[in-house]
Amino acid sequence: MYYTKNTVLYLNGKFIKAADANTDLYSQTLHYGYGAFEGIRAYNTTHGTKIFKAYEHYERLRHSCVSVGIPFDYDTEELIQVTYQLLDKNKLKDAYIRPLVYCSPNMSLTAPKEVFIMIAVWEWGKYLGDNLLKLCLSSYQRPNPNSVKVDAKITGHYVNSILATSEAKVRGYDEALMLDMHGYIAEAPGANFFLEKDGVLHTPILGHILPGITRQTVINICKELDITVNERNIRPEELQDADSAFLCGTAAEVIGIESVDAKPFAKEWKESLGVIIQEAYKAQVLDKTFSHVII
Ligand code: PMP
Repeated sequence: MYYTKNTVLYLNGKFIKAADANTDLYSQTLHYGYGAFEGIRAYNTTHGTKIFKAYEHYERLRHSCVSVGIPFDYDTEELIQVTYQLLDKNKLKDAYIRPLVYCSPNMSLTAPKEVFIMIAVWEWGKYLGDNLLKLCLSSYQRPNPNSVKVDAKITGHYVNSILATSEAKVRGYDEALMLDMHGYIAEAPGANFFLEKDGVLHTPILGHILPGITRQTVINICKELDITVNERNIRPEELQDADSAFLCGTAAEVIGIESVDAKPFAKEWKESLGVIIQEAYKAQVLDKTFSHVII
């Protein structure tokens, strides 16, 4: 359940009961997947409730809309304030936050006259759980960047993600790992990918992936900890002799990968660079200090 009879959401300038909220069935977003959304988290930190990277997420929402021609006239600071109020009204400190920009009724394939925004909040554990993940290489590729704006978080793009995750589950895996149209590793259906080899991390370059805010946070953490990160094209065969790997995303946070296509990684997760990044990330979202010396 994402809401109860008491849950409040934000809809077009007003706080209303989620149970009383409704939408127009002729919305272009429902018919064509033409809308944009975000996935954000708030944490109960030692300095009170903090929305992690709120500015970055709302700016990405703006970028997503603008890049596909959906008008976006909202003020980022105002959206952040509204989100804090919404958390407060729902008495939530640790929460997942889902803003969605959706379009007015329009059955034509043209930009809408009007857009709407809703923000919902709910309690949500780690999206992919706490256990190490068993992944499979997906038969579904990430979309061609000449067909869609892959760096935008557009509702319709998630059909590709649903196909990949569903296929992985049917095959008995926890999650999928998807390749791009050229056959390089791209990302998971809702998280970015890092691989460890000989004390260095490698992650797919931008171009065929969603530029994850967590991915960038991990890169920044690595700079602070003196861990080298190579952003480059990674071939799936490189999984064979990699030391370890992990996924990262707002919903999933940092989560280790046990195996891909049932082939386990050489290093134990607790010995990997990933576990250090996981700790550092946890400290950062909770506003705690973290220090680690890599020997
Ligand atoms: N890739 C995809 C396809 C995603 O949906 C997400 C989740 N937004 C990510 C990566 C991770 O992005 P972020 O770290 O900004 O949550």
